[in-house]
Amino acid sequence: MDYYSTRNRALKFGLKEALMKGLAPDGGLFMPSRIPILSRGGLEELREMNLTQIALKLSELLFGEDIPGEDLKAIVEGAVNFDTPLVKVEEGIYALELFHGPTLAFKDVGARFLARLLGHFTRDMKEDIHVLVATSGDTGSAVANGFLGVPGVKVHVLYPSGLVSPLQEKQFTTLGENISAVEVKGTFDDCQKLVKEAFMDQELAGQITLTSANSINLARFLPQAFYYFRAWAQMDPETRTDPETQLFFSVPSGNYGNMTAGLVAREMGLPVHTFLSANNINDVVPVYLLTGKFKPRPSTATIANAMDVGDPSNFDRILDLFDHKHKWITTHMQGFSYSDHEIREIISRVYRKTGYLCDPHGATGYQAARTFMDDHPGYTGIFLETAHPAKFKESVEEVTGKPVEIPERLAVFADREKTSTPLKPAYRDFKSYLLNQ
Ligand SMILES: *Cc1c(COP(=O)(O)O)cnc(C)c1O
Repeated sequence: MDYYSTRNRALKFGLKEALMKGLAPDGGLFMPSRIPILSRGGLEELREMNLTQIALKLSELLFGEDIPGEDLKAIVEGAVNFDTPLVKVEEGIYALELFHGPTLAFKDVGARFLARLLGHFTRDMKEDIHVLVATSGDTGSAVANGFLGVPGVKVHVLYPSGLVSPLQEKQFTTLGENISAVEVKGTFDDCQKLVKEAFMDQELAGQITLTSANSINLARFLPQAFYYFRAWAQMDPETRTDPETQLFFSVPSGNYGNMTAGLVAREMGLPVHTFLSANNINDVVPVYLLTGKFKPRPSTATIANAMDVGDPSNFDRILDLFDHKHKWITTHMQGFSYSDHEIREIISRVYRKTGYLCDPHGATGYQAARTFMDDHPGYTGIFLETAHPAKFKESVEEVTGKPVEIPERLAVFADREKTSTPLKPAYRDFKSYLLNQ
């Protein structure tokens, strides 16, 4: 399969190259040149399958031309080794819990898949390849844990010293093996700048192989399509097969990787009526959906901070899927946005009414679903729960007044010992660090 640039459909690369490059040379994002379609019969077969089996079947359609069957099976089984349960919250509204992976965030799915796909294509290289990630907290832990133990790949996580939560820091500074943490005495922007300079340094490129693992990589967003199918497969059989039932997904969104994956799932044959873009006050996309005008702006900090994005990087993919036609996009997408005050109220209300505890991101998803449902009775709504509430313990406890239990797989990190390389935010120092690896 070829992957084209969203800026020029004639600019195409094979899977390996598109994967290693991350971004197309003209600055566009890679899209698959053909989206495979699952037949009705093929769809029905998914009903009996768990997430790993669904991922394997869909991976064969997407990546089967480029990766031998046995290898693909090992990649999928290594990456997608947990489930995404569908939980009923109230009549007609379900949560798709995406937080059952090792770092309790949905980003585990994409990060683990990308790690293994890269590992596959680089396994015959003599030298290691180096993955650079700048993180303000969450992405670093998902990527680091995703790459842990993948042979031939070394990961360097750059993070701003003292500016990530202690538990987040432990998740990428205690792993050892092929994961190193670089503790930068500066801000997240300084970290990002160091990474960018390294990628532009031709002299460095002559000495070590670098690649990025950021959210625009095609291997991070495409595998996220798998769990939309898994959600459908878990629906009550009568609801699912009733031709009158219209299904919609509500997606807490920041960079829109998750949303794009859902739209791709729809193109692959998943019977979805509408996607709701659920946002905090960073509402660039809801404003676009209402007005047709896309106006990126600096982000504002909120309690749903993984969605504090002012210029969503996957938006070009959404435009591309709908041939840049605003009218067409709005037949399948609607936007909703909520203030911190509203998010707290939602967490509290849902918990009191139903006993279900949302994290601040999932809360926006729930409310968008509830509001849409009030106008569309009889529909079935699934909102994505993108993080475990324990990851946003302080905000959630403040609202409910009850302690949130930290799951064992997160708690274990607290007792481990941190190892990091302290660094000034100076490119010269970062370069010599890299050359000493
Ligand atoms: C990253 C993230 C999001 C936003 O996902 P996108 O794919 O960037 O839109 C939402 N919720 C949580 C908890 C996240 O970590």
